[in-house]
Amino acid sequence: MQQKNNGKVSVRVKKLRQEIARLRAEYHIENAPNVTDSVYESLSRELGTLLKDYPEFRDENAPENRVAGKPLDKFTKVKHGSRMLSLNDAFSYEELYEWEKRIKKLLPPPPFGRGAGAVQALRSPQARRGEVNYFCEVKFDGLAVSLIYENGKFVRGATRGDGFVGENITQNLKTINSIPLILNSFPPAKGGIKGGGGGGEIPKYLEVRGEALVSKKILEHLNAKNVKEGKPLFANTRNVAAGSLRQLDPKLVAERKLEFSAYDMFVSPEPATHSEKHRMLKDLGFPVDPHDAICKNLEEVKSFIEKFGKIRPNFPYGTDGIVISVDNIKLQNVLGVVGKAPRYMVAFKYPAEKATTVVKEILVNVGRTGVLTPLAVFEPTFIAGSTVSKATLHNMDQIERLDLRIGDTVVIEKAGDVIPKVVEVLTRMRTGVEKKFKMPTFCPVCGGKVEKKNTQSRIHKISSHFTLKGSDMTQKFYESATASVAYYCTNPKCGAKNERYLEHFVSVFEIYELGPKILRRFKDEGLITDAADIFTLTEIEIASLERFGEKSARNIIKEIENKKKIPLAKFLSALGILHVGEETARDLAVHFGTLPKVISVAQSNLSEIDNIENIGPAVSKSLHEFFQNKSNLNFIKKLEQNGVVIEKAPKKTKGKFSGLSFVLTGTLAEMSRQIGKERILALGGKVSGSVSKNTSFVVAGDGSGAKFTTAKKLGVKIIDEKEFLQMLNSGA
Ligand SMILES: [Zn+2]
Repeated sequence: MQQKNNGKVSVRVKKLRQEIARLRAEYHIENAPNVTDSVYESLSRELGTLLKDYPEFRDENAPENRVAGKPLDKFTKVKHGSRMLSLNDAFSYEELYEWEKRIKKLLPPPPFGRGAGAVQALRSPQARRGEVNYFCEVKFDGLAVSLIYENGKFVRGATRGDGFVGENITQNLKTINSIPLILNSFPPAKGGIKGGGGGGEIPKYLEVRGEALVSKKILEHLNAKNVKEGKPLFANTRNVAAGSLRQLDPKLVAERKLEFSAYDMFVSPEPATHSEKHRMLKDLGFPVDPHDAICKNLEEVKSFIEKFGKIRPNFPYGTDGIVISVDNIKLQNVLGVVGKAPRYMVAFKYPAEKATTVVKEILVNVGRTGVLTPLAVFEPTFIAGSTVSKATLHNMDQIERLDLRIGDTVVIEKAGDVIPKVVEVLTRMRTGVEKKFKMPTFCPVCGGKVEKKNTQSRIHKISSHFTLKGSDMTQKFYESATASVAYYCTNPKCGAKNERYLEHFVSVFEIYELGPKILRRFKDEGLITDAADIFTLTEIEIASLERFGEKSARNIIKEIENKKKIPLAKFLSALGILHVGEETARDLAVHFGTLPKVISVAQSNLSEIDNIENIGPAVSKSLHEFFQNKSNLNFIKKLEQNGVVIEKAPKKTKGKFSGLSFVLTGTLAEMSRQIGKERILALGGKVSGSVSKNTSFVVAGDGSGAKFTTAKKLGVKIIDEKEFLQMLNSGA
């Protein structure tokens, strides 16, 4: 009897779940609710009651359990299957045309793929005419996340992190109603689906990438609340999304009412186009940008940008521009990735919005490196979707360039996600009471002497057209271009320096037990004077402090012990060297492998550092200064003496071409010579411009001349493009 009843309940639970999921999708994805909330709620209530009576049907992954689980102590780390990339920006149509010119140069000559290994996908009518289809979509101003589905179930979600490793925020992402916990199956193939498991199947493994976001309404609502409570305001929707997802308690996350928009997926077999991916994502149950469109050329891209530009001010979500991709995935693969950004994709940024306001005062911040940064405080002003009341002025030069005085009426500008900046002073608005600003001669935090340092020697130039967004490149551009004169607090024991540095240090070492308050307490009590002292703390010392029990002391010590071993990249980032953020530290570690190598090169051979991809003179200069400084070297020595173990960075994997030297000659059909060269380098090989007896292979394309003859004379092995492609693509 019970058995029979169970069968009925099981069917009802299944039906209820399906219907609730359908209504949810209708509401969140189609944006066309055909039912009132009360139907949804009534069905949800029935399900809840049934599961209470029949707990055997409870399922942790079921849609009704979106907000579940205890608050976490911390997030664990997740390694991404493939690097999460950043995008290059374009700030004008000219820059889009330049981008097109660059990529067309790198694509095989039209008609694409006339070589032996020509791929079907390249034989479309457009491709044959040498045209490239573009895919345009709105770039939401949220937080990029990766979602993993196994057999159609959402199993794990993570932040971008440094692109390679992110934080596991599965519990929090589950609270987002527009993220399906269970996927729809693909509809049966209607001839439209090429690859990607058509025919009603659910892919075994699927990664979806997209943006976790909040509406402008939520931002306004939260900021109104923060104003009342005297808390700092969120600058933009992305900050709200990021801040919410970093909450350890999923219940708090659920209150923020986050949403999701998918933009990419990784599934095997790979779909033929990016637009196909979007269609599949929609079929699987993900919201995608409803405006997205295929454009046949840049003229059409321009109309897309203009059309959305009109909608944008009243669009319910913060947006950051338009992402334009080469639609054909085969062509995407040919173009590949340079540094942290794909070459086949570019983000068009709308021109900045401007507003005027009055500067009330100029404050001075003291940073972790001791640098003094002036900060303009102005009348709160609404600009580009949010209210702003502060903007960094970067340094004294900037103030002088602007001729900015306290009391001035200024023009502020905010471009997409960029923090507001003061771009112009309306000097005609002056009344004579405006006051000039002077850098303090003593540190506002510790009273130590402030010194002026000239840090400019070379200006690091990135093409003014292209800046890598959200990465060290942006920082480098700005910092090196503006860090000509800087004011520093000279007191090595400065509280601001020390305190912020300690917080930075423990967060990179992931010693979560030591929050800012505890660190301050330990400092005040004299238990630590610098970060290295953390590693000699004892249980007895901590337990003897008021309000610290034996148990918490034990936990702290245990965690510190566990975190003594640290990879080189993290260690470099923990040192807090000017311009060396997480990603730059990683690039340095991969290149040099060990700390002694980094130190010796930084002390003597700066050009070697400059030559590392993504790293410029501002970084090498800063490294040089840091490792010249005896007290920094002593600090490192002290860390090691106190038990910190720096792990070598894994050696760059030896590519299958390592030890081989190539010469490319003539025209290749499948790829440009530039791309061929990059692929050889990526596999550890060398590329040379001239043939010698040390050349391993000469790759002869169409119309190769003198090099071909020389190779024959020297007896160097000559291969054609077909053989070359086989070498590139063969396993191991
Ligand atoms: Zn100071």
